[in-house]
Amino acid sequence: MPTRPAQSAPATPSTPVAPLTPPAPKVVLITGASSGIGAATARRLAAAGHHVVLGARRTDRLTALAQEIEARAGSVFPHVLDVTDQAGVRSFVAAAHDRYGRVDVLVNNAGVMPLSRLDALRVDEWNRMIDVNLRGVLHGIAAVLPLMRAQRRGHIVNISSVSGLRVDPTAAVYSATKHAVRALSEGLRQESRELRVTVISPGLTRSELTASIGDSGIKDAVETQMSIAIPATAIGEAVRYAIDQPADVDVNELVVRPTVQG
Ligand code: NDP
Repeated sequence: MPTRPAQSAPATPSTPVAPLTPPAPKVVLITGASSGIGAATARRLAAAGHHVVLGARRTDRLTALAQEIEARAGSVFPHVLDVTDQAGVRSFVAAAHDRYGRVDVLVNNAGVMPLSRLDALRVDEWNRMIDVNLRGVLHGIAAVLPLMRAQRRGHIVNISSVSGLRVDPTAAVYSATKHAVRALSEGLRQESRELRVTVISPGLTRSELTASIGDSGIKDAVETQMSIAIPATAIGEAVRYAIDQPADVDVNELVVRPTVQG
């Protein structure tokens, strides 16, 4: 009885896969780089060879992170930043431009999440979320847009949230700011043919975000939910993926959450 021939290569030749060339190093500005997702993103991008410019208010944290990145031969420039201060955001961007001669990517990541019910009337916390999560993003866009228009290229990555796709009790104002970030990102994308615009919407991610929750009952409940959180490196990798695509590929939306999150 004839034996079956050993399995060989497929009958149809496959299309050859082009060899991967490493993407050129970019100048990437990251707001809120002193902890959580911003710090993880800085580490990931520096490891990929990009020049990272770190912005936040806690400069001691930025200095420590910069030393850590430099110790691994990464290129890093820490600079104080309060995203609620438009002049300060302009200075942050100008300092990066003076140092590197260009601004390739802005990652608008800084954010706060003091959750509460609306009827608790924590109006100061509502305003803080609007100032950091929404006005801060707009300040970043305003500071880089003229430079990117002049360069005729650039990339703005806005960190929204799964709360930008749904609304939950105690998260009405936070969700409103994150829905707004998605809306303005889409508007920016539609207005720009030379810029790339990416929205990344993380689900539960390990970071210091719950520290801003003033209501202790809500804080405890959210920290319990955080037991399923994914590491901030997962979001840093999503940012790297979006940035490292070829110039004609614009990754517009990524949702990255724990597999077990509902
Ligand atoms: P962290 O609290 O760890 O990080 C927040 C960062 O924002 C810090 O670096 C903080 O720096 C910075 N920040 C806050 N206020 C300002 C300000 N006025 N000016 C400049 N920087 C500021 O939390 P995450 O890493 O989780 O948060 C990063 C982003 O991810 C936020 O936009 C958040 O809404 C979003 N997100 C997080 C999720 C999560 O589960 N962790 C889920 C979905 C979205 P400093 O205090 O030093 O200024």
